[in-house]
Amino acid sequence: MAGVHEARTGGDDAGGRTTSRRRRRILVFPLPFQGHINPMRQLADALHARGLAVTVLHTRFNAPDPGRRPEFRFVPVPDGVPAGVAASGDVIGLLDAMNAAMEAEESAALRGVLESVLADEEQPPAACIVFDANLLAVPRAAAAVGLKTLVLRTASAACLGCFMAYPMLHQKGYLPPQESKMYMPVEELPPLRVRDLFYSSRSDQEKLRNLLARAMEAVNSSSGLVINTFDALEPAELERIRSELRIPTVLAPGPLHKLSSKNTASSLLDEDHGCIKWLDKQPPRSVLYVSFGSLASMDPDEFLEVAWGLAASGHPFLWVVRPGSVRGSEDIQGFPEGFEAAVEGTGKVIRWAPQQEVLAHPVVGGFWMHSGWNSTMESISEGVPMICRPQFADQMMNTRYVEKMWSVGFELEGELERGRIEEAIRKLMEEREGAEMRERAMELKKKVAHCLKSGGSSQIAMDKLVKYILSL
Ligand code: UDP
Repeated sequence: MAGVHEARTGGDDAGGRTTSRRRRRILVFPLPFQGHINPMRQLADALHARGLAVTVLHTRFNAPDPGRRPEFRFVPVPDGVPAGVAASGDVIGLLDAMNAAMEAEESAALRGVLESVLADEEQPPAACIVFDANLLAVPRAAAAVGLKTLVLRTASAACLGCFMAYPMLHQKGYLPPQESKMYMPVEELPPLRVRDLFYSSRSDQEKLRNLLARAMEAVNSSSGLVINTFDALEPAELERIRSELRIPTVLAPGPLHKLSSKNTASSLLDEDHGCIKWLDKQPPRSVLYVSFGSLASMDPDEFLEVAWGLAASGHPFLWVVRPGSVRGSEDIQGFPEGFEAAVEGTGKVIRWAPQQEVLAHPVVGGFWMHSGWNSTMESISEGVPMICRPQFADQMMNTRYVEKMWSVGFELEGELERGRIEEAIRKLMEEREGAEMRERAMELKKKVAHCLKSGGSSQIAMDKLVKYILSL
């Protein structure tokens, strides 16, 4: 792998903690949600493969299992998240509680942890901390102990562009969105329309604006920015970020999951590998994979419509129904009467998938998803076209890019109803339009392969990143 020896004085790790051979160390601190943990761990893997030692800071909430990555050090940070907030699914409330606990003056919780991590003489000297921009306590705590910071953005470059434009979006009246203007184009951020902007009607608006403003401050005050995307996917968006932000370096080494060979190491739920055997028995390109990520949920009525829509399509499907997928039920929702018999032999339901392996399987012909950024990148990387059912955060804008910018999928809009679901599945899996989306997805897959080759943009970005880290 390019640059692999750059950060070492020689030799390998022999799989253990013999990090004394590694000259420098990075600290990483992911936001504790699946869609943020995965790319941070993938970035840490890629940096470790290039010779850096890794210390992972983590919250108690959604804590990782250190046993899965013995070559990393793990250090807990008090997060002060009350059990009620953790269980509520209120992401903004959770972030607020977490940041407040880490910033608490009286305990200076995070600063104390950083001080003791830096004082660990068994470890090589720390070059910097790579952190998720939503962890607002990090810049101040790191500055207090003289540690440089790099930000990892786990969403698209377009999403960061939207954050950068947030004050303008309010000044010009695009936000808060008005019902009558939902389909109005946002001329400053093509191809977005008002309905595609990052917004949450469920969250406290002041809290959200404050969070985004502080996340931008965190980016602006850092020594560099890493975005999980690649140059050929979002050229104009990256160009804008590079020209408007005044930070020393902006790198796009994505898709990060393709730079790591240990992609099962950070799953919070157990992956059902048995589904691969089931996939092995299906005809090529016949299976629709259905998953809405780690946080999105639906009402019980919608769940019924999805179940019967899948059954009616007649296509084989692999459907992830994780605990919490259906609002109001903590564990897995029961299936409607007759459903299991109706889909016997054609459908399989599991709690959690080894998603990247599933998407890479040659029998998977389509992905019905929620447009989380990781899922979008994973689908693009395997040339799988998408039906998008976005719910919140950046999912609307990712959908817009899938449909309008790359033309590798389409949105299933409006009420979830079995007839419309069946129609959408047929469009993707059987009709000419779906076949054209698949062709374009295969073209994007080639671009992914190109950026990952030696000399490709993502490999160059990783090499630059290692060099930069070693210069800090
Ligand atoms: N994922 C998985 N198995 C599943 C569903 C999702 O491993 O059954 C992974 C998926 O590969 C992705 C992450 O969970 O890396 C979800 O991140 P994404 O940004 O797509 O959505 P979020 O969960 O943050 O809404």
